[in-house]
Amino acid sequence: MGIHNDKKRFSLAVKFNALSIALILVTAVGISLYTIRSEMANYYRELLNHGITIAETASQNCEYGIYTEDRDALNRALQGLSKDADIAYVTVLHAGGRILASITFQTSAEIPEAWHEGEALGGQVSHRDHDGRDGGRYLEVLFPIAASTRGILDPLLQSSERSDQKVLGYLRLGLTQEGLRRKIRDLVVSTALFTSVLVIVGSVLSFYLSRRITHPVLRLKAAAEEIAKGNFETPIEIRTTDEIADLARSFEYMRGRVRDYNDQLQHDAIHDVLTGLPNRALFSDRLQHAIILAKRRAGYYFGVLFIDLDGFKVINDSLGHTVGDLLLVAFSKKLVACVRPLDTVARLGGDEFAVLLEDISGESNAMFVASRIKEALKKPFPIAGREVFITGSMGIALSSSGYETPEQVLRDADTAMYQSKAHRRADFTIFEPAMHARAVERLRLETDLRRAIERQEFVPYYQAILSVKEKCIVGYEALARWHHSERGLVPPGNFIPMAEETGMIVAIDRLILRQACVQMKKWLDRFRGNHLNFVSVNLAHKQILQPDLVEHVALVLEETGLPPEHLKLEITENVLFENPESASILLSRLRGLGVQLYIDDFGTGYSSLSYLHRLPINGLKIDRSFVKRIDDIGENHAIIRTIMTLARDLNIDAVAEGVETTNQLAHIASLDCAYWQGFLFSKPVKSEEAQALIAW
Ligand code: C2E
Ligand code: CA
Ligand code: CA
Repeated sequence: MGIHNDKKRFSLAVKFNALSIALILVTAVGISLYTIRSEMANYYRELLNHGITIAETASQNCEYGIYTEDRDALNRALQGLSKDADIAYVTVLHAGGRILASITFQTSAEIPEAWHEGEALGGQVSHRDHDGRDGGRYLEVLFPIAASTRGILDPLLQSSERSDQKVLGYLRLGLTQEGLRRKIRDLVVSTALFTSVLVIVGSVLSFYLSRRITHPVLRLKAAAEEIAKGNFETPIEIRTTDEIADLARSFEYMRGRVRDYNDQLQHDAIHDVLTGLPNRALFSDRLQHAIILAKRRAGYYFGVLFIDLDGFKVINDSLGHTVGDLLLVAFSKKLVACVRPLDTVARLGGDEFAVLLEDISGESNAMFVASRIKEALKKPFPIAGREVFITGSMGIALSSSGYETPEQVLRDADTAMYQSKAHRRADFTIFEPAMHARAVERLRLETDLRRAIERQEFVPYYQAILSVKEKCIVGYEALARWHHSERGLVPPGNFIPMAEETGMIVAIDRLILRQACVQMKKWLDRFRGNHLNFVSVNLAHKQILQPDLVEHVALVLEETGLPPEHLKLEITENVLFENPESASILLSRLRGLGVQLYIDDFGTGYSSLSYLHRLPINGLKIDRSFVKRIDDIGENHAIIRTIMTLARDLNIDAVAEGVETTNQLAHIASLDCAYWQGFLFSKPVKSEEAQALIAW
């Protein structure tokens, strides 16, 4: 976009100057012409008067000569006229037209033809112009000569009454108009001079004026061009006090507004709106700079800390997005406080942050900062009247790895972070090349998993749940298995964490739920009257958060035809106690369908026992770890006993998980645990094998 158009055009100053000069010129020429005209008319009249006066005098001297027709006397009378420079020639005519005397005073002059008959000899004074053959111009006066000149002058004088004296002849006086010509020449020269002076003075004035008018306009134009170019800093200075100054003021105001707006835009483009921290773009830019420095300057090191908050989503979902946002802001402040002013703290998106530690001495330096952040996160954040705890998993990439691009650095720091998240959480890990291979493997797994969902490569295996007293199978727990086309049967431990992280678990769980219900319906129909009563299906954390969970379960039950009382849903306790209020509502709705609810892995989480009685649950599954250690020490024995007491008090069932030995079974039996599950009886098996076990 250009602010000029390319059409040929004239500037304001040129137009203004041209107009004023034209005006001055027209005026000056007009005045000159008028002056010349009137001067000429005056001169002509004077010449004529002069001629008449002379003729009048001369005619008196000629009266006698004419009368007597004495040529000598006439010549003498006329000779006196030679002193007058204006008189070129003189002729005396008889009243009949005959020439009586003729004298030429100016050699070049030549007496013209006789005056035209009728016109000339009217007995009155008349005059005419005539061009001589010498090229000169003459004013000829024809003056009648009478005994007295009074009356003859009548037509010229106009006022006097006519006289009827007899005309004797005529005096024909030729006056040269050379003087007039000279006069014209002088006049033309002086008016030309006058015009030139006027034009010069006028032009100077016009240039001055046009400058005064167009200069501020040009400055405004220049300012507009600067703004168009993106320079908003130069102020517009106009010192006039007219409308242009008003315009300039509006312009100046506009410039300020545009600059502020532009600043905001530029700031927003490279900063995170919520926290005000640099965003990924700005961070990458600074990181790129650091990469270049590290290459050029020996001894310059930098480190990048990648931080991902642990369980931020849970906080967002349970406490609301407002609290989530406040937490992010508070966290970003804490992060900034943990580093030097020269370091860059950025929010890369969501709950991901990065810190660029510039000019550090080495690995220990980066580790020191990471531990400081870790320590700082141990204190809770006071948010909206409550204390919120959050931890962050960190990964560190160091410039010593010889990076080329910011993406590589961030990728490795992210990989290291993931390592922290997978293993220790709330801690930091320094990137090692081996992690990269693992990250690649993860990526492959993720791709495979996505494809597996499309191809429905997941099947439930069934592990029997038995009654301690009756020693028979009362139900089956459906446990997901992945039939990978190349890797064969993949156990849940290898894909469930990834599936949970990516959200793919929702689809997997729904596949398993449907298949388990279909299977259970078949078994119920087939083994009517048997002890087999239910199928137990696991629900992942993400699944619980699905807004349509209840509707989905209802739909599956309806479509598969499985009566709801034959379905149990297992939910890990952490899911429930992170937000007991909403969990309670959800569980009630699920119970409303007629299904049964169990808390899985009970004892491993942070269950608040005070909430337990408020949750509409049907039973607990005592975590495998407690059962496993029954053989070793008595302590776990005590824990199981406590859990059993709790279950009894709440009037709910208990299932002991992971029973592998008869000793363990004997112990849980002694503690009045009604149900058990474990390798002692069977591993999770294919549906056909499970079916064979029912019949057993
Ligand atoms: P879980 O729900 O606690 O399931 C019981 C796990 O303990 C199963 O492991 C089972 O094979 C194992 N187990 C049972 N008896 C014994 C025993 O006597 N000794 C030992 N050492 N282990 C025993 P599995 O099938 O590998 O599943 C692991 C976990 O994966 C499950 O723990 C569950 O949390 C999850 N999972 C499995 N299938 C699904 C599913 O369809 N959806 C969801 N969301 N999670 C699933
Ligand atoms: Ca389970
Ligand atoms: Ca369990």
